[in-house]
Amino acid sequence: MTHLIDCPICGSSSLVDFIKLPNLPIYCNLLWADRQEAKDCPKGDIELAFCDQCGGIVNVVFDPEKLGYSQDYENSLHYSSRFQSYVEALANRLIEQHQLHNKTIVEIGCGKGDFLAMLCEQGNNSGIGFDSSYVERPEHEALGDRLKFIKDFYSEKYVEYQGDFVCCRQVLEHVQKPADLLDPLRKTLDADAKTVVFFEVPNALYTIRNMMVWDVIYEHCTYFTPSSLSYAFTNAGYTVSETSEEFGGQFLSIEAQPAKHSEPAADIDAIAQLSKDIADFKTRFETQTQRWEARLSQLFEQGKKVAIWGSGSKGVTFLNLLNQGGKVEYAVDINPRKQGKFIPGTGQKIVSPEHVAQHPTDVVIVMNPLYKEEIRDMLKEIGLSPEILTTESF
Ligand SMILES: [Zn+2]
Repeated sequence: MTHLIDCPICGSSSLVDFIKLPNLPIYCNLLWADRQEAKDCPKGDIELAFCDQCGGIVNVVFDPEKLGYSQDYENSLHYSSRFQSYVEALANRLIEQHQLHNKTIVEIGCGKGDFLAMLCEQGNNSGIGFDSSYVERPEHEALGDRLKFIKDFYSEKYVEYQGDFVCCRQVLEHVQKPADLLDPLRKTLDADAKTVVFFEVPNALYTIRNMMVWDVIYEHCTYFTPSSLSYAFTNAGYTVSETSEEFGGQFLSIEAQPAKHSEPAADIDAIAQLSKDIADFKTRFETQTQRWEARLSQLFEQGKKVAIWGSGSKGVTFLNLLNQGGKVEYAVDINPRKQGKFIPGTGQKIVSPEHVAQHPTDVVIVMNPLYKEEIRDMLKEIGLSPEILTTESF
């Protein structure tokens, strides 16, 4: 196994390991139709290291060879009303703030194309989406020629597709060296055109501050903080206009423009604070997992039925990290594509809320605290009021 020595964001050799999470599923959102196959899924190790030069957090034993997405990959969060409102508000804000009307929008890593379609519909814009895993969808046909998808990774060879606005959400954390995406994009942009580039990534500050160790997954090789995200952009020739925390602090967004001259800028104060937070995280991590293990054992001994709600990344890491086997009965998910499938690594069945009505549970552990009220309401509607815990409970 190779172990990164140099920071993939700033190139310095100041990476210091701080946490090890061995043997976690490579894919959190790959759909497994068979319990045993789910348990035997491919796994990999995570060793997070911190760079005190740029504030970057990286998995130093990440092996890109292990990854290769397929169409059975399902990470759509669009079924949650909380998430849907966030995405709609984001689209509206970007349209307003950047006057995106009758413009051309490029989206890198557009996934199923929903966000791009939303920007095009609401602002009467044209869109070009890049994603190697894109599958044609009938609902996009209504936009006709205004929406075009290219089933490929974005690269310099697509220089002819110039946008007035470029967006890229939840992609950069999957790229081993941010410059591998930011450099080619910068080369295709003319500094005089002042194209706004908008990127969104998971916010590592949220993970660190809230002890949300469940946010750590194999597919993410880099965990960005505002300082390391800004460093990556200034280092690649952009001027950063702002970074902001979104979606209850769980996401981090950055807006930048191509610069004529740009020097990499590190936020020394933020990095010093982060350095302290990371030292704290390291000690609190063990306490956190031990408390959860003890809590699950206690509930099991009391004969209580326990389920988790949310079978995405957080749920998969939670179950695999604690590895409490039979102590969690099933995982509930409102995404119908996931129901009937099994959790990678630990093999719990993924069920619908209707299943919960037929097979009630005493305790529901909500994987994303932001969805707690939405889930409580759904349970109430089916006449249930189990004890609700969230992953922030301790
Ligand atoms: Zn660095």
